[in-house]
Order: sequence, then structure tokens, then C-alpha cells
Amino acid sequence: MTDSARQPAAVLAELAALRAADLPVYGGRTLAYVYDPGLGPETVRLAEDAYAAMAGVNGLDMTAFPSVVALENEVVGTAARLLGGGPDTVGTVTSGGTESCLMAVLTAREHARATRGVTAPQLVLPVTAHAAFHKAAHLFGLEVVAVPVDGETFTPDPRAMAAAITDRTALVVVSAPSYAHGVVDPVAEVAAAAAERGVLCHVDACIGGWLLPYLRRLPEVGAELPAFDLAVAGVTSLSVDLHKYAYTPKGVSVVLFRDHEMRRHGYFACASWPGYPVVNATLQGTKSAGPLAAAWAVLRGIGDEGYLDLARRALRTARELRSGLPKITGLSVLGDPPGSLLAVASTDPDLDVFVVADCLRAHGWYVQPQPGFGGLPRTIHLTVTAAADGKASDLLAALTDAADEARRLGPATVDPALAEAAALIDPTTLTPTDVASLLDLAGLTPDGALPDRMAPVLALMETMPPPLAERLLPDVIGRLFHLRG
Ligand SMILES: *Cc1c(COP(=O)(O)O)cnc(C)c1O
Repeated sequence: MTDSARQPAAVLAELAALRAADLPVYGGRTLAYVYDPGLGPETVRLAEDAYAAMAGVNGLDMTAFPSVVALENEVVGTAARLLGGGPDTVGTVTSGGTESCLMAVLTAREHARATRGVTAPQLVLPVTAHAAFHKAAHLFGLEVVAVPVDGETFTPDPRAMAAAITDRTALVVVSAPSYAHGVVDPVAEVAAAAAERGVLCHVDACIGGWLLPYLRRLPEVGAELPAFDLAVAGVTSLSVDLHKYAYTPKGVSVVLFRDHEMRRHGYFACASWPGYPVVNATLQGTKSAGPLAAAWAVLRGIGDEGYLDLARRALRTARELRSGLPKITGLSVLGDPPGSLLAVASTDPDLDVFVVADCLRAHGWYVQPQPGFGGLPRTIHLTVTAAADGKASDLLAALTDAADEARRLGPATVDPALAEAAALIDPTTLTPTDVASLLDLAGLTPDGALPDRMAPVLALMETMPPPLAERLLPDVIGRLFHLRG
């Protein structure tokens, strides 16, 4: 970065050069992080133009920018109609799934304090709930009560969820579906148990919320998909990310609430300073209207029938993969995912899915490694979007080759002495020098560059007690974000 002004074309060329090392956002070969409807440049341009048109508009003051109110009400209205909302349903547009989950938890904490006098709140969730809820508990001072899931279905027993509810429970969380395994929790049973105790229940449909309702409308899925939305008795809030299966640019999610009387507990108002009166519905202050406008434009541009067709294509591709994957020796799909997310595990000790992910990446496909946790096996995660339609056989062929290669290479191994030592480390006593030595030992360079092959690093991380990994990870990333020279 220099201080002298540059021509716009040169600046943009620099940006393009930086982007060259990234995973592709479009094309269906990146099976995590990005969501491509495969509708081509016209839809992309619509989103970008709407984004640019509103990028400088500030959602901080809705009275100064009434367009933000109009757009947000339309987007929330569309989400509420899609997801079982009624006349009292309200919602808020947030910056993403994490912020939607944070707002659901904050709202529930404040609601529990105000209506039930809960001062030491708990958050009941299945172990498969998204990490965003652990973040919420951490930020907002709730105690996580994690309920195990079944080793076949990867969903919690509703009786175990019910048994975990106490007078201190502020919120019970279920996923529709879970990110890691793509399976839908028993929403109706858990919501009923929560309601019986007068406790709020959140459905995390961040990833599935714009897909499952359309899958239910397809004859090949239909009613075999149980109800999971706000129409289910006892469900009091629900999150849905538009930047996932609504295929909008990044930075847009919706959190829906039963009614405003519940939602208002999560609003923050401040009249205790000499500046403008503050009312924030989210964690942000100044808030670009760009993502909201882009989402609004994409929802209009694709339309209801368009989303139905995109759901059909994603499902078709996911089903082709699901039937093809078990034919690859040593690989199996976990649970019974109804939609577009697949968690693939190895049934062969000589075949390491982390190594498969590395090999696949060398073939131009990205799948996401997921370390094992709490007795659940390590997997690779496939987020199938409509853009992958027609590519299932290519991906299966690449997976077959990658599995052969991975078997030849053998599993990533962890020095048993290192694993043993890691188990004995108390992360709270580590000095910055200790942490640096451990990262060097793990094969990370001082500039933070990650190795080409991630399998050995992930395998090592998986053997560590989570508190140790959680102490080291900020320093792994801290090495990347550093000013040099
Ligand atoms: C993606 C996701 C989140 C978090 O959303 P971000 O947009 O990444 O912040 C939460 N829950 C589930 C189920 C998700 O898939």
C-alpha cells in the first residue's frame, strides 16, 4: 500500500491479482463457504448493482433513510411467509447467521430476566448446534448445556433435550438442519417440551431456511420432511441466512421472532449520552444498506418459482452424490440428510478423509474438513448448491481418484508423544513463547503461511483437548494478521 494516488484501473488490477489465490466463488466446485445459483452473470450483476447503489446508505438511522425500512420489511416479510410466520411475526435483518444467532440468544436472555427473573441463564443445545451459539454464550454470559446426539442419526433425543431444561434455561436451540451433518433435529418435540416449561425455543435454519420449504414443495421430498418452522407450536424464533441458499451476496441474514413484545428485549436503546438517540436492532451501529439491497434485488430477481427450481437442482445433485459416494470404497455418508449437505466419513482406517480433502483440492475441488468431536467421527463436508447441478459425476470421479491417492499416501499421523504431551498441557499457564514453540512444532511458519497439505495440522488439532486448541488457534490466525515491513 502506498500513499500516492493510483488510477482506478490499476487499483482494480491489484485487487484482481490478490483474488487470484482465492477459491472460486462461482462454478460449483467450491463446496463450502460460497453459494452459487448457477444462474450466470445477469443475476450476479443485479446483486452487484443493487449493492453498489445502496452501499453508502446508513441503516443506523432508519428515519433518515426510509428506503432501508421499506427494503427490510419486504425481505423480512418474504422470509416470514416462507417460514410459517403469522400476522404477529416480526424480524430483523442482520449481517449474517452468527449475528442472527447472537440476537436470538441476547433477546432470550433479556426476555428470561424480565419475565422469569432468570439471572444466571443457561442455553440448552445439541452438541451439533453451530459454534455461533457458543460464541453467544461466551459474549452474553450464558452457560452452555450441551446434549449429546445419537451416533446414527446425529440428532438429539428430544427427551434428553427436555431433561436438560431447568428454571434457568433462557433458550433451547435446535437446528434445521445442522451444519456439520445436514440433518434436521426433532423440532416439534423439543419446542413442545420448551413451551411446557415456559421457555423460548430457537430454530437455527441459517443454512436450511431458504431450501427446506422448497424441498417440501417438491414431490420427491414432500411431507417426509417434518415441519420445522415458526408454524410449529413452541418455536419462538428462527434464523435464516440469505447469503446461503437465497444465493445473495455476503452479509445478510434474517432472525424472525414470534412477536415484537419478545423481539424488543433484544433491541438496545440509549438516551444516556449527549449524542443522537440510539436504537439498535442488531449489534452494528452504522450499517451499510448494500447487503440488504442486494438481497432484496436477488429475492425479486429469482422469485418463488426460481427458488423452487434451484432447490430441485441442488437436491438432484446431492442425491446423485449420496448414491454415488458409498460406491467409493471406504467412504460413507453419515445420517439421513434430507437436503443438500453431506458429511462423509471413512470406514477404512487406511483412508483419511482429511487427506482426501487435500488431494481433492489439488484436483480443483474444495470440500471442508471437519475434525471429530465428542465421539463423532472426522468428516468432510459438502455443501451442494444449484451450480453443482450436472457436475456430480465429475465430482464422484475426482473423489474416487482422491480416495485412491489418499490410501496410497496413508493417513496423516500424529506423533503419539506429542499427543500425550498435549493432553497434559494446561492452556491457561502457557506463555506467548510456549505458544510460539508449539505452533512451530506443529509445522507453522512464523509468517503464518499454512502448509499445502492441511491433514497433518488438522489431525494434530483433533487430538488436542478443545481448550488447548482454543488457546492456540487465535495465535495461528494472529500470525496471518500482522504488519510487516
Ligand atoms: C452458517 C451457519 C451459521 C452461522 O452463519 P454465518 O453466516 O457464517 O455467520 C449458523 N448456523 C448454521 C446452521 C449455519 O449453517
